Amino acid sequence: MSEPMQEIFDRARAVIPGGVSSPVRAYGSVGGVPRFLASAHGPRVRDTTGREYVDLVMSWGPGLLGHAHPEVVAAVQEAAARGLSFGAPTVAEVELAEAVRARVPAAQKVRFVSTGTEATMTAARLARGATGRDLLVKFAGCYHGHVDALLAEAGSGVATAGLPGSAGVTAASAAETIVLPYNDVAALEAVLAERGDQVAAVITEAAPANMGVVPPAPGLNAALRRLTAEHGALLVLDEVLTGFRVGPAGWWGLEQHGRGGGTEAWEPDLFTFGKVVGGGIPLAALGGRADLMDLLAPAGPVYQAGTLSGNPLATAAGLATLRLADEGVYAHVDAAARTVSDALGSALDAEGVPHRVQRAGNLFSVMFGEAAARDGVRSYAEAQQQDAFRYPAFFHAMLEAGVALPPSVFEAWFLSAAHDDAAVEQIVAALPAAARAAAR
Ligand code: PLP
Repeated sequence: MSEPMQEIFDRARAVIPGGVSSPVRAYGSVGGVPRFLASAHGPRVRDTTGREYVDLVMSWGPGLLGHAHPEVVAAVQEAAARGLSFGAPTVAEVELAEAVRARVPAAQKVRFVSTGTEATMTAARLARGATGRDLLVKFAGCYHGHVDALLAEAGSGVATAGLPGSAGVTAASAAETIVLPYNDVAALEAVLAERGDQVAAVITEAAPANMGVVPPAPGLNAALRRLTAEHGALLVLDEVLTGFRVGPAGWWGLEQHGRGGGTEAWEPDLFTFGKVVGGGIPLAALGGRADLMDLLAPAGPVYQAGTLSGNPLATAAGLATLRLADEGVYAHVDAAARTVSDALGSALDAEGVPHRVQRAGNLFSVMFGEAAARDGVRSYAEAQQQDAFRYPAFFHAMLEAGVALPPSVFEAWFLSAAHDDAAVEQIVAALPAAARAAAR
C-alpha cells in the first residue's frame, strides 16, 4: 500500500528538521510515517486524507475536555475578535491567576509564560536568585522541558531518542545539575548531606509521566519536601503535565486528599503548570510562595519577561477550560482511563505478553517485560530495561484500527471528557489484535 503521508513528510523534511516541530512527532521510535493532522474534534483527530482516529495523545495533555470544545472555541473566538495580543496587562490574566490559586492555594502568586519550558527555566532562575546557590537536583527520567540545565537524563523525547542529554549543553551547565535516581530518598539524603548548602532547588515531576508513568512511592514527595526544607533548598513541583489533569488541583491536590499515595500534608515552594492551564493554546505558569514570586521582576531582582506572555487567546482558553473542568469531568476521565487501562492489561495478559500497566491518577502507560511485570517500574533505569521492541507493532496495529496512541512507549496515554462510550469501545475493541502483534 502506498503511504499517503509520505509525500507531505518528504516535503516537510526538506524545510523542517526531521519534518516536525517537536521530535516525538516524527515516529522515530515506532517507525513509519507520521500522520499529518487536519482537524480534531472531541475524542477524535482527522488526518489530511480524511481518515479519523480516536486520539490518546490529546496534544500531549492539554485536551482535558476533548479537542475543540465548543465553549472553549467560542471563548477564544470572542477574545480574538477583541485583539490578538496587547503586550499590556489584562483582566483575564488576573482571573486566570485567581482560578489557579483557588484550586491550588499554595500557588499564592502566579506568573504566566508561554511554555512549560519557560516555567521550569524561570523556576530554576528564581530558586538560584532566592537562595544565592547554584546547584539544581533533578531525577533521571523526569522531563522538565528543554532547559539546558534540566536536559540531563530527561524523559519524553530525550528518552524516546535514547539520548543521555543533548549536544549543545555546556559542561558548565551540566555540572550544575545533579541527577539522581527517581524514587530514591537515600540518594537525595546522601547528596544533601554532602552538598546541601549549595543546592538551590530540587525539581521533580509531581508524578512522572515522561519515562512512561512511574508514580511516586507513597510519601516520596512529602520526603522531598522535608529534606529540601532541612537544607534550605527549594522544592519545585513540576505539574506541567499533571496539573489540572489528574484532578482539580493536580497531583498535589490528590496527595492532599490521601489519594496518589499521599501520607501527609505538604506544600512545595514553587509549582510549574502548563498544558491544561492554557486549554490548548501556548500558555504555562509558575506559581508559589508570594515572598518568592515577588522576587520576579518588576517586583524583584530576578528577571523574567515575554512578548506574548499572558496572551489574551491563551488566557481565554485557559479560563474557559478551568471553568468547565468540574468534578464530573475528572470523574469521567478517571473512569475512561480505568476502563481502557484495564482492557489494555487484559488484552496483553490474554496473549501472554509480560507487562505492567502503571498508573498515576488518570494517566497510565504500559511497561513491557518480565521484570516490569514482576516488580513494577520505579525508576528511569528500570523503564529503559523494558522490552520496548514490542511497542512499534502494538502502536501500528492500533493505528490501523483507527486509534492514535502516543508514538513512544515512554509517554502516557491521555483520555478526555470527550471520550464517550463509542470512543472507549473503539479503543477497547482494537486492543486484542494489537496485543497479538506485540506478542510476536
Ligand atoms: N514539564 C513537564 C512535566 C512536561 O511534561 C513538559 C512537556 O511535556 C514540560 C515540562 C515542558 O513543557 P513545554 O513542552 O510546554 O515546554
